Amino acid sequence: MKEIVNEVHIVCKDESELSESEHELLKEAQAATWRSYAPYSNFSVGAAVRLSDGSIVTGNNQENCAFPSGLCAERTALFYANSRYPDLAVEAICIAARGLDGEFTRVPISPCGGCRQVMLEVEHRFGRPLKVMMYGTDGVYILQSARDLLPVGFEELV
Ligand SMILES: [Zn+2]
Repeated sequence: MKEIVNEVHIVCKDESELSESEHELLKEAQAATWRSYAPYSNFSVGAAVRLSDGSIVTGNNQENCAFPSGLCAERTALFYANSRYPDLAVEAICIAARGLDGEFTRVPISPCGGCRQVMLEVEHRFGRPLKVMMYGTDGVYILQSARDLLPVGFEELV
């Protein structure tokens, strides 16, 4: 028998401890929540991705009455970035969300499994780690690679 142990390294920062670049990405993710279309869940998620030229692309959750037809903020941002700037690597993604009370969530918002798989393929596509920032008013979780969110992903097969 063989055992595989996977350790995840998560840095937890107060908002005041973020670098200038991290703070800029967070502000864009927060702003994107206000442009979401979430009439069913009333849970507004924003995502901001930084590209290798320093520019930022944002996305947010887009819901639909036929529920599976909607899309998460993370994938909206990543697919737009990859469709508009296919030659620019995605270096980082920041996620923020506002709940039913309209306030940003206290706990850092975590991507769903589908978005984790897409993030993993973005890393594979560009051959570099994708830094992931998850915002909550209690703090910001920072992971240096999307692989930490999905240690046994599907990318080995593509
Ligand atoms: Zn998702």
